[in-house]
Amino acid sequence: MKRIIILSGVILLILLINFYQYTSKNIREEILMIDNVTSSNTTITIVYDNYEYDKRLSIGFGFSCLVKIEDKNILFDTGGDSPILLNNLEKSGVDLKEIDIIVLSHIHGDHTGGLTGVLEVNPDVTVYIPKSFPNNFKEEIKSYGASSVDVSNSIKIWDGVYSTGELGTWIREQSLIIKTDKGLVVITGCAHPGVVNIVKKAKEITKDDVYLVTGGFHLGEASDSEINSIIESFRNLGVKKTAPCHCTGDRAIRVFEEEYKENFIKAGVGRVIKI
Ligand SMILES: [Zn+2]
Ligand SMILES: [Zn+2]
Repeated sequence: MKRIIILSGVILLILLINFYQYTSKNIREEILMIDNVTSSNTTITIVYDNYEYDKRLSIGFGFSCLVKIEDKNILFDTGGDSPILLNNLEKSGVDLKEIDIIVLSHIHGDHTGGLTGVLEVNPDVTVYIPKSFPNNFKEEIKSYGASSVDVSNSIKIWDGVYSTGELGTWIREQSLIIKTDKGLVVITGCAHPGVVNIVKKAKEITKDDVYLVTGGFHLGEASDSEINSIIESFRNLGVKKTAPCHCTGDRAIRVFEEEYKENFIKAGVGRVIKI
């Protein structure tokens, strides 16, 4: 009898500890404070893409864009290799030393390939990477003298700039959210977790309207009905403008252009989008 009482006590204690851990984790996830800062001066320059826009720049398979907010420079993804990235940054008039923050969406080489080339010139940056990145990747960043931040849940990166946090199951990916006075700008790398899920998450975190979604939407293999249902979801979510590129796929880009008309922004390497 005594044993049963002790055993029940132990089981109860374990249940209580689990419950406490569960609730405290949920509370921690909800702590992200969205401040009222909105940028009235944001410029996005696509510096690596497999679609051409400005002929002076080189195309390459991958994606990278430079987000300039006031005097802060955030490099989102780094394309597939350093020579093309560095050359395109130079032609876009970007001084590597002026990059403050690098955000990597996911582990694939067409988004991380140019990182070391930037770190060699400017190690004075903070690199935001999904927590699921392998340790040797994190060690390599540190070996250049740069600091890295593991992103798990959605977090604030800079005033008015947030990460969705790691989304998806197999390929974990984060996307960038910028609060502007026109609404949210959402930038995706490859959108492996699903571009609609990413936009939903951005809205859920910030409780704001979506002005623009740009980057790779990962619809190269998508059927017409899948593409149409994504556009319908974008409409329902109130996405005002779209600028798909990278892994969106030719067919999907054409449908976005037809559907979004004057609110479709042709993207590609060298495109400068002023918000
Ligand atoms: Zn990609
Ligand atoms: Zn990918």
